[in-house]
Amino acid sequence: MGSTSEIAQYDALIVGAGFGGYSMLPSCMKEGQARVESGESAKSDEDQGRPQTDRGHRFWNQYPGARVDSDAPVYQLFDRELWEDFTFSERFPSWQELQRYFAHVEKKWDLRKDIEYCKNVESADWDSARCRWLITCSDGTETECKWLILYIPNIKGSSEFQGELYHTAHWPHYDVSLKNKRIAVIGTGASGIQVIQEAGKHSKRLTVYQRTPNLCLPMVQRKLDPVEEQKKKETGVYAEAFKKCESTAGGVTYERTDKNTFDDTPEEREKFYQSLVKDGGLQFWVAGYKDMMTDQKANDAAYDFWRRMVLKRINNPAKGELLAPEVPPHPYGAKRPSLEQNYFEVMNQDNVDIIDVNRFPIEEINATGLKTAAGQVDVDIIIFATGFDALTGGLMDIQIRGTDGRTLMQHWADGVKTSIGIAVPKFPNMFYLFGPQAPSTFSNGPSCIQSQARWLAKLVEKLETDKIKSFEATEASADEWLEMVRDEWDATLFSKGKISLPALLSSIHVLTACTAGGRARIFQERKSNP
Ligand code: NAP
Repeated sequence: MGSTSEIAQYDALIVGAGFGGYSMLPSCMKEGQARVESGESAKSDEDQGRPQTDRGHRFWNQYPGARVDSDAPVYQLFDRELWEDFTFSERFPSWQELQRYFAHVEKKWDLRKDIEYCKNVESADWDSARCRWLITCSDGTETECKWLILYIPNIKGSSEFQGELYHTAHWPHYDVSLKNKRIAVIGTGASGIQVIQEAGKHSKRLTVYQRTPNLCLPMVQRKLDPVEEQKKKETGVYAEAFKKCESTAGGVTYERTDKNTFDDTPEEREKFYQSLVKDGGLQFWVAGYKDMMTDQKANDAAYDFWRRMVLKRINNPAKGELLAPEVPPHPYGAKRPSLEQNYFEVMNQDNVDIIDVNRFPIEEINATGLKTAAGQVDVDIIIFATGFDALTGGLMDIQIRGTDGRTLMQHWADGVKTSIGIAVPKFPNMFYLFGPQAPSTFSNGPSCIQSQARWLAKLVEKLETDKIKSFEATEASADEWLEMVRDEWDATLFSKGKISLPALLSSIHVLTACTAGGRARIFQERKSNP
């Protein structure tokens, strides 16, 4: 450990650049100086020389077809200063456009000087005597801070395969040609759906290894007309949309109806379901009947509609049964449905095969391809779209040691315990955004993150004003929160979705950098924030 005088000193260190880091940083930095310590190891040779703006948000999630599934304009920071002169060109923006957006945010808020990319935070140790965190990065540099704010999901993946192997959450930064290749995609989550649609356009043969069918919904992507969007900004439509996002359960502009499913006649129901899918997006899941996620029969009715809609697009009955089985794989919506553009048409193609890994588990990935009981499939490219431990992985990968010297991983070995999904007992002055036991995954990211960031900024400002050096969540508050979350969970059909309670409450982003807070007047709220 270096002497304190050699160690960079900050009031706050934010690990993870993206909506979380960008939301918190201005509050931390109102009048202070800042610099950024980097996070995820973005240091491979191919990355050298890339523009710095490429290194932050969605650094790794650059697989073909990657895009968000929140309707424009709500997938952005709600600050007028930012949105008045940046307009997304598509209803569901691509990763390329998100990078342009974050470059805009950095420029507009002059954040670049406060962000240091490409550093890998290895450990964080709490010094009780001085009430400071000591942060060590993999390049040996050390930083001290009073407040530690984390926003860092995780990615993993490996194989002995001798062809080309990629993970959607760790996509390389060179052009990967899918043209005329034999491709295997493992996983049919949001990333899987998006990459399959792209691979389907180009590949010679595509084999999809599916564990759970994705009960995905039509995206109905469209270009946004800049003139029309400008008019919406001037007439208050944007401001109204952002305000609405603050009050709905999903942080979006729509919410469930007041009606139960069987209040309507079958004809009315059919019409209502049609209206929910007609314009695309997640409305069918988020804005349907109010009992859809609490009543199995209501949920069955929704699934039946969804299945009939999908089967019309698949002319191979065997594929139809795999993609939209007669018996639902789980209650509709218990797993987050993805948005698709031509997914079912791609799966319908003659050069596309689906292997059900429940029936035919992958036995091995060998030099030439993948082996299951259904046979060997030789491929040129394997794409893992198997996700990542978005919930706790990033947090637990860092050796964060609390007041008792035990790491976060040790604390959570028997289950995640948090206070209001933002703080952890025994880890004073440490907070995380968009992480476990908060609405994270099932909400529009920017809505959830900005609301947490604002709350956190106020909290820390108060602690600073009251000259409180250390602040820690109590065990009782964490017990109470866990009980409340469990009660809510058990009262819904989400518990039947074959996902764990923590997974439901996980974050969805892969980010690659970390940000450091400033020294002066930290955590002041921006006056311009709505
Ligand atoms: P994901 O949602 O976790 O999906 C992983 C997929 O891989 C699932 O289909 C899973 O099947 C399958 N899988 C995992 N292990 C497997 C195995 N051993 N064998 C076969 N299949 C396996 O991961 P993701 O698609 O990368 O998404 C990660 C997060 O990012 C999610 O929260 C997602 O919503 C978010 N995301 C969002 C967007 C967007 O448009 N907003 C785009 C991409 C990602 P099971 O379902 O059976 O577990």
